Amino acid sequence: MPRWLPVLLFASVMTVLPLIPGIPPFWIVLLDNIGLAALVAMGLVLLTGVGGLTSFGQAAFCGFGAYTTAYITTVYGLSPWLTLPASLVVAGIAAVLLGLMTVRLSGHYLPLGTIAWGIALYYLFSKLDFLGRNDGISRVPPLSIGPIDMYDPYSIYFVIWAMVLISAVLTMNLLDSRTGRAIRALRRGHVAAEAFGVQTARAKLLVFIYAAVLAGLSGWLYAHFQRNVNPTPFGPQAGIEYLFIAVVGGAGYVWGGVLGAAIVIILKEVLQGYLPLLFGGQGQLEIIVFGILLVVLLQLAPGGVWPWLANLVPLKFRRTATGKAGGLPARERVGSSAAPLLKVERARKQFGGVVAVNDVSFEVNAAEIVALIGPNGAGKSTTFNLITGILTTTGGRIEVHGKPVDNTPPQEVVKLGIARTFQHVKLVPDMTVLENVAIGAHLRGRSGAITSMLRFDRGDEAKLLAEATRQIERVGLGAEIDQLAGSLSLGQQRIVEIARALCADPELLLLDEPAAGLRHLEKQRLAALLRQLKAGSMSVLLVEHDMGFVMDLADRIVVLDFGTRIAEGTPDAIKTNPDVIKAYLGALA
Ligand code: ADP
Ligand code: MG
Repeated sequence: MPRWLPVLLFASVMTVLPLIPGIPPFWIVLLDNIGLAALVAMGLVLLTGVGGLTSFGQAAFCGFGAYTTAYITTVYGLSPWLTLPASLVVAGIAAVLLGLMTVRLSGHYLPLGTIAWGIALYYLFSKLDFLGRNDGISRVPPLSIGPIDMYDPYSIYFVIWAMVLISAVLTMNLLDSRTGRAIRALRRGHVAAEAFGVQTARAKLLVFIYAAVLAGLSGWLYAHFQRNVNPTPFGPQAGIEYLFIAVVGGAGYVWGGVLGAAIVIILKEVLQGYLPLLFGGQGQLEIIVFGILLVVLLQLAPGGVWPWLANLVPLKFRRTATGKAGGLPARERVGSSAAPLLKVERARKQFGGVVAVNDVSFEVNAAEIVALIGPNGAGKSTTFNLITGILTTTGGRIEVHGKPVDNTPPQEVVKLGIARTFQHVKLVPDMTVLENVAIGAHLRGRSGAITSMLRFDRGDEAKLLAEATRQIERVGLGAEIDQLAGSLSLGQQRIVEIARALCADPELLLLDEPAAGLRHLEKQRLAALLRQLKAGSMSVLLVEHDMGFVMDLADRIVVLDFGTRIAEGTPDAIKTNPDVIKAYLGALA
């Protein structure tokens, strides 16, 4: 089933709904309110559900949108359509300023930060004279198209829902793109995404602005729907409610925002209408019942109602790349080929008193497989982190093609042709194998957010996905391409990480314990793959505990113990080296 078909069906239903004869006007008002809340919730889906940035402050951005248009239309008499860009821009600029301060916060500080400015802006709106203080701005003009002034809830209904549908389609397009994958990777930590060139701080700011602009749009519509604007609907309580809506609907799903808005707003309306009749009008009871019902709902469907419903409908949209796409351009080669590919010279890393890497030196040349071995805690993974820019060195030098890379950010290191896997697998479990692997080719694509939203990225995207498909087939996981990465065995996930690294078109592949968790046959296949890569003049630096695997494969072995290099040589020399036997191999015997 094509992915636009459900959207078209939904659009048709929403178009016909208000035209049903005898539908009470009160329902239309309810649907208008649902549409307004859905816009804000959709932004939160991207921000909180997809990007992992919890915000309690979205209502304030509605306020920016609403006050901007209310002020300009009432003071200068401009048409609301002309103020729409102004409302969106003001909300967007506010998001840039608040975002620059807030997205740097991590853990609990981030939501706390959003609560803080949510409250602060609410008081700002209610204290500014030119915004009418607590009374706000009234007599905001209605929207109009030609001779039609949209005073009634029927006419504005179509504007609101057209905006909801357009926003939903743009948001879905964005998520299903190169930029979307970068955003979706944010929630699982930054390390892996950054190792493939994703500018995570920029991606966070982008979703922050996107969510704010959607909230600003909702505020703009609200101002011309209510035709007066005051601080209350933009306060902290509304901010909490929007987050609630997104969570109830399913914070990771675009349509979850719409569904959540429908559930919460209808439930509130029903309770406010009927409970006073049942309990003789004793005040505020509906808020308590409302809270209890929502908690029950979240118990039944912890991930939100949308994924729970979607699970009941066995429709699947497969997104495998077609074979028609042309190839991606190769990564630009940097540096001189006279110098060794990788040169680690007296590299040092101290964590407080612990010397994790103690003046370690070694080189990796072109088309060479070098193994880095040593007992647990010897400093192997730390060495990888120093090379790839995830950690900064305490001393020494690391060069790639003669160019110093120590203390270079990971996004720059990967541009030099160094791609890696992680000892503790860092995939996004709820993305497919194809999508995870495509992140590896992030730097080889060009399309940005706007291009993707408008779907002008299809050529670029097809090439990226074709490349990802090629690498997945190369590592032997073609059958799993559409599976969620989290559903694979740990051994297979390690192989997915290799495919992702290969997508970066590397000259040097850093593999941290790639064979852990693999069965015998899978290890043989991995060894064959690494030999084939070497034959294609790629180099591999390998950390591995399976000595049979290492001795068979490596051209050279570097042995670390307590952060110090204790030996280096061919597999045969290492096998008989007394220091190595004492420190490491002996311990295994
Ligand atoms: P290996 O990969 O060889 O098993 P690691 O490089 O992971 O070893 O660790 C080397 C040493 O550095 C260990 O003693 C470990 O506890 C310490 N270490 C690693 N990362 C950190 C960190 N982020 N903070 C403090 N100590 C660390
Ligand atoms: Mg390790």
